[in-house]
Amino acid sequence: MKIMVHKCKGKYYIKVFGCQMSEHDSEILAGQLEEMGYHSTGDQTEADIILLVTCCVRETAENKVWGLLGRLRKLKQDNPHLIIGVCGCLPQQKDVGKSIKKRFPHVDLIFGTHNIHELPRYISQLQETRETVLEVWADSDALVENIPVKRAPGIKAWVTIMHGCNNFCTYCIVPYVRGRERSRKPENIVREIEELVARGYKDITLLGQNVNSYGKEFDPPFDFADLLLRLNEIKGLERLRYTTSHPRDFTDKLIEVIAGSDKVCEHFHLPIQAGSNRILKKMNRGYTREQYLNLIDKIREKVPGASITTDIMVGFPGETNEDFADTLDIVKKVRYDSAFTFVYNKRKGTPAAKLEDQVPEEIKTERIQELIALQNKISLEKNKELEGNVEAVLVEGPTKNDVNRLGGRTRTNKLVIFTGGSDLIGKIVPVKITAGHLTHLDGEYCG
Ligand code: SAH
Ligand code: SF4
Repeated sequence: MKIMVHKCKGKYYIKVFGCQMSEHDSEILAGQLEEMGYHSTGDQTEADIILLVTCCVRETAENKVWGLLGRLRKLKQDNPHLIIGVCGCLPQQKDVGKSIKKRFPHVDLIFGTHNIHELPRYISQLQETRETVLEVWADSDALVENIPVKRAPGIKAWVTIMHGCNNFCTYCIVPYVRGRERSRKPENIVREIEELVARGYKDITLLGQNVNSYGKEFDPPFDFADLLLRLNEIKGLERLRYTTSHPRDFTDKLIEVIAGSDKVCEHFHLPIQAGSNRILKKMNRGYTREQYLNLIDKIREKVPGASITTDIMVGFPGETNEDFADTLDIVKKVRYDSAFTFVYNKRKGTPAAKLEDQVPEEIKTERIQELIALQNKISLEKNKELEGNVEAVLVEGPTKNDVNRLGGRTRTNKLVIFTGGSDLIGKIVPVKITAGHLTHLDGEYCG
């Protein structure tokens, strides 16, 4: 997407809370602001527009938004021309937009996940009327194409392939705030990735809440495996990733395609959420632990050396010590490379929030600590197993603290730090792993 250069109208500051979807939404908001003539700043105090791209998946993210909104009141008092906007998942929840308006009168723009492409209109409206703009669209079928996107510079980019989620896991707010599944047309995805590759991006992550239900609505059929096959043909593209995939919909065809496509990386992020069949059922996950383990076996057989990561939750309502033991057991059996671990918390409007047998906070805390300790031990062991291997590392850039130390990723998505010159940035180079740590690997360039 071409971004036109205008005279600077002012500066904007965007703060993102949440997942890659929210991060990518912020690139779309930034793209629109740049096209309007605004430039980015990293300093809130010099901004003319401050936008908060919010998340409501967990209570902690939500509380951070309320805290920041409170603190911004002072900034608005000092600079009444400052525009403060809140968008994304939080205002998309029922009545939350209205309550933000009431609780934080210094907020000027409030909009949801379905209308982020309307930002320029909201800003003009606000500048004309000086009245708070509150507009949250209900579920939308529209797939708006060709919105300007301001990508983070570098070699990695996100590309949305589908919006929404139809799964309704009983703990999760996402289907209520992101709407029903809608898949982008393959030709639009191909075009976007070809343009990104032409601009030097090499490592593309396809985004969706459940990428393997991509294309379910298409006639003639064209599913996620077909999409990967098509994207694998794009010349100049080095690596293709995707997130998140649901274990229930991970077909044999998909494993075959991943195994046979040279650009699709050997990294599987397969959220397990819980190890007990009883809890999985109450979560409405649609698989049993046996089916999940069977899937892992198939992946390990067809894609040797693949890394496997996950999301796991503790303290779902009714989770007993035995259920939690099943979670620890599955973590030991799969031996994940790494895991995002969460403490269950109630999300208003979801079925699990109404369950009576909520787990006490102190038990949740004990369980999460035990889970993290176990997973950290396994992550470290797995990274140590790689010592001595030579890995193909796609070099991203210098590390924050030392320009001579470079950081890059393996195909399995492990971060590797090694010494090398800036001429290596953007290239895939061989690096011998010298030490495995909890969250990264040390290496030696051996080109
Ligand atoms: N679509 C993705 C993930 C969406 S949310 C998937 O299905 O895997 C990211 C993670 O947040 C989830 O995998 C889950 O582990 C966690 N999460 C979602 N709702 C939660 C809640 N109410 N409490 C705690 N963690 C939650
Ligand atoms: Fe939420 Fe489940 Fe959909 Fe993931 S698949 S977004 S956890 S409802």
